[in-house]
Amino acid sequence: MRLRGKVAVITGAGSGIGKAMAHRFAAEGAQVLGVSLSDSAARVAAEIGGSATGIRADVSDEDDVRRMISTAEEKFGRVDILVNNAGFGGGLKPLHEQTTENWDRVHGVNLRGVFFCMKYGIISMRENGGGSIVNVSSATAVVGFKHHSIYGAAKAGVNQLTKAAALDYADDNIRVNAVCPGTIWTGLVPMAQESPEPPPGIWRLPGIPMDRWGLSDEIAAAALFLASDEASYITGTLMPVDGGYSVG
Ligand code: NAD
Repeated sequence: MRLRGKVAVITGAGSGIGKAMAHRFAAEGAQVLGVSLSDSAARVAAEIGGSATGIRADVSDEDDVRRMISTAEEKFGRVDILVNNAGFGGGLKPLHEQTTENWDRVHGVNLRGVFFCMKYGIISMRENGGGSIVNVSSATAVVGFKHHSIYGAAKAGVNQLTKAAALDYADDNIRVNAVCPGTIWTGLVPMAQESPEPPPGIWRLPGIPMDRWGLSDEIAAAALFLASDEASYITGTLMPVDGGYSVG
């Protein structure tokens, strides 16, 4: 049990990567507070059972984020681990077709939301002797992806929040790292909504050096390592989990 007794707040825990993280962290002994926009995090918590709890909160709303952290403190006593996973691609198209509204929407959740969660998570962790933050960034923060200008810019911002905060709080015993997923199968691709794994015809993904999709569980495994005490001397790292995509 690599997270025995730890309290973990996981945003975007209602589906996809965050759902896989909630299950994995709980299986490793963490008390999980999952957060999502809808009731989906509460449903995931019910699947997990035990002390797992799911609440609704919008990470782009500062009051909601304060409430999210205070809920964890009231229910579990503290926050040891914060995974900032809530996010979305949002209107992927060429830059000249993008709108100010979409910039605000995408950056409101993917970047400002991470800022709010880090800020209030760090305030709580400092009062309790430290903690570990894992931000879910993206390969798009590292290499260019067609039609991903706004999303990629937000995720690149997440990488810089990660590095600067790692330096700011290294002597507060707070580690801050990020995972940068590549193209991950979350079961939500419209053509295969019912399938927990990519069907054989689309399992292979040309253009990825490892020649396949990544899986939510593979992102959860990387986040688990960074969140756990096994990574006790690692801070400020941006870990690609992308089948080699960002190497070349
Ligand atoms: P998903 O849509 O399956 O899950 C997103 C979760 O975030 C949902 O639970 C949703 O309720 C929640 N959410 C969205 N907006 C929110 C808000 N304002 N406040 C609180 N919760 C909110 O997506 P996913 O594919 O599992 O993506 C998870 C993370 O991984 C995102 O940050 C995404 O940018 C990143 N990512 C995904 C991929 C991929 O290929 N799936 C690749 C790189 C990075």
